[in-house]
Amino acid sequence: DGHRAQELLVGLNPQQEEAVTHGGSPLLIVAGAGSGKTRVLSHRIAHLLATGRSHPGQILAITFTNKAAAEMRERIEALIGDVAKRMWISTFHSSCVRILRREAASVGLSSNFSIYDSADTLRLITLVAKGLELDPKKFAPKAIQHRISSLKNELIDEESFASSASSSDPFEQAVAEVYTGYAQRMRQANAMDFDDLIAQTVFMFRAFPSVADYYRRRFRHVLVDEYQDTNHAQYALVREIVGVPGESTDDPAELTVVGDSDQSIYAFRGADVRNIVEFENDYPSARTILLEQNYRSTQNILSAANAVISRNPDRPEKRLWTAEGSGAKIVGYVGENEHEEARFIAEEIDRLQDEESIRPGDVAVFYRTNAQSRSIEEILLRVGLPYKVVGGTRFYERKEIKDALAYLRVLVNQDDVVNLRRILNEPRRGIGDRAEFAVAAFGERERIGFMQALRRADEAPGMATRSVNAVAGFVKLVDDLAEVADGSGAAAALEAVLEQTGYLEQLRTSSDPQDESRVENLAELVAVLREFERDNPEGSLGDFLEQVSLVADADQIPDAPEGSRADVQRAVEEARRQGVVTLMTLHTAKGLEFPVVFLTGMEQGIFPHQRSATDPKELAEERRLAYVGLTRARQRLYITRSEVRSMWGQSQYNPASQFVSEIPTELIDWKREGTAAPARSTSGSISGPRFSGSYWGAGGGGFSGGPAPAKAIGRVQPQKEVVSVTVGDSVNHTTFGDGTVLSVEGSGDKTVAKVRFDVGEKRLLLRYAPLTKV
Ligand code: ATP
Ligand code: MG
Repeated sequence: DGHRAQELLVGLNPQQEEAVTHGGSPLLIVAGAGSGKTRVLSHRIAHLLATGRSHPGQILAITFTNKAAAEMRERIEALIGDVAKRMWISTFHSSCVRILRREAASVGLSSNFSIYDSADTLRLITLVAKGLELDPKKFAPKAIQHRISSLKNELIDEESFASSASSSDPFEQAVAEVYTGYAQRMRQANAMDFDDLIAQTVFMFRAFPSVADYYRRRFRHVLVDEYQDTNHAQYALVREIVGVPGESTDDPAELTVVGDSDQSIYAFRGADVRNIVEFENDYPSARTILLEQNYRSTQNILSAANAVISRNPDRPEKRLWTAEGSGAKIVGYVGENEHEEARFIAEEIDRLQDEESIRPGDVAVFYRTNAQSRSIEEILLRVGLPYKVVGGTRFYERKEIKDALAYLRVLVNQDDVVNLRRILNEPRRGIGDRAEFAVAAFGERERIGFMQALRRADEAPGMATRSVNAVAGFVKLVDDLAEVADGSGAAAALEAVLEQTGYLEQLRTSSDPQDESRVENLAELVAVLREFERDNPEGSLGDFLEQVSLVADADQIPDAPEGSRADVQRAVEEARRQGVVTLMTLHTAKGLEFPVVFLTGMEQGIFPHQRSATDPKELAEERRLAYVGLTRARQRLYITRSEVRSMWGQSQYNPASQFVSEIPTELIDWKREGTAAPARSTSGSISGPRFSGSYWGAGGGGFSGGPAPAKAIGRVQPQKEVVSVTVGDSVNHTTFGDGTVLSVEGSGDKTVAKVRFDVGEKRLLLRYAPLTKV
């Protein structure tokens, strides 16, 4: 009602209020960091609902993270109740998955398509390139992958690229061929990669105007956060959904986008800042609102950030101001080496805790590349300061986790050739490369999928009897596991996979100490699945895998990971709750804020990164990254570097980052400056053994899916007794209801019962089936 709507405006400044209440034309909110852009978006949605201008089903809000989406939803739910559930608030990828699953039939997909991450994609591209006999030295699969990804982000499909690729450029020719083969394989595998999710949705809207029209009528308000980091495909998607007067509709939806071109840091992934710069041209009737008051940081921090970003060419001058007052000076420190730099950070956190009652959970430490976290982790461990690395070595990229997920993916989609081939001989079961290729060739000749070919492996020419038997064993294993998945739920399916395949056994009996932590990681994955089942009682294994795919968005450029935003938010929140220091890369820090921030490794060649030395565009992007980093701080900001840093086993002497010298000197209070200061010989006492795991145990890294898996090994064991049944027994299954036992085979852990239910006959592995005798 009106009263509630009025309350939503309390405390907003006039520009924010206008942004919240504006109606009619497209709306662009451009503003610097911390000016309340994200906050305005949620208030705007709540206001639309409170005033009755819109109802929840008509709203599509695109946030940069799944967590941001969840938070927004919660806030609005508190306001208007359960109807808020009908709002679509999600990331681009999640929205597209949802649309594609609904409309799968229109694009010739079945709705259970797999989602391939970048490692899966690379594997398939490598396979295709090999098949085309391309020399991997001349045409690196990674380079081809990157090019194909860019093409998809530009909405150039394989056919149009094949006809337009420069015939004089061998690399482009190679890409064209691989792209065609890859697209074909993806269709056969019933799979989509991340770029496909967006591109295919756009293609579908264009090919099927009636489908597009449905979404246009449905979503009357479309709101996008972090618009400066959209790529062309995402831009096109927004245009399709909103509709363009005279082109696709007479009655476009109301579009609101917010962003800051100074925070565009994903150009390497195809983000195109033109989308925000040209908004007024793309949407001629647009209203633009500028926000200038910053509510996050002190004036000293803002002045430093302004000074750095103002060196970028071709940007409109903006002046952020704050009512917070000047605050403490920025503190600078130069360590003799990276250990000494880290030591300063640890001591300072300790001091803040003692003298200024700042808690470790209020503190974040940023660095440019993942590898830099090691020396900081080392010292934090040594002094016993709890911390968490967010977005580092990603849990979902570990081999054992990918293997386990590959099994689960195959159980959901047996056409998924990449994952099928991944697990075919993992763990080893005597199916060698030759057998694999014989089956693949047979499948191609017969024009059947790989799984079908495996089922008919005995007909494939050139197969040894031993291999035929091994393949038959594998097929039987997959079928058995599929039945467990079908009958007993996601977590049970994973446990069955780990036990039945011998995967866990192999790790348990191994003498490689790494394998112990692999077991723990797998236990952690089981815990994640249990948590998923608890939170989503209706959720299927397919739903789980979809969530994982979106969360585990593996990155292409090792130095600049975004990782999974959902993971990031979860981990950051948990770190705060547990009161531990958060460690993360600068890219990961986007959109977040912390009372105390350490910007470390402020050295030329580290940050700005080496590769920007010769490229002004790269340098401008690095400077925006610096701006993002500086503006995360609310009250305290530290900039640190070290004089000597060991990189790749060598000592490097890096001068101070140019970004440091761009900050007015009067804003910085140096606790120790370069070589002039007396050396403290501390390095000897610090350079102890190297630690590779994170503080939170082997399951750690960037992952926060559950508690530290200390006693994890026990958790993988099934917790229930095998129910004993005989033919003719009446039984009840939690999913399938009442049934009658038709047959029983095997014994002990391996007992399988065939049961007739109303839904049909099922073979159930009794050890895992939620079955009781009645
Ligand atoms: P970024 O560019 O980093 O994404 P942003 O523009 O999205 O930042 P927000 O995160 O929405 O900024 O807001 C920054 C901080 O300022 C938040 O803590 C937010 O709650 C606070 N804030 C924003 N507007 C107001 C206001 N009118 N009154 C009080 N606090 C505000
Ligand atoms: Mg924001």
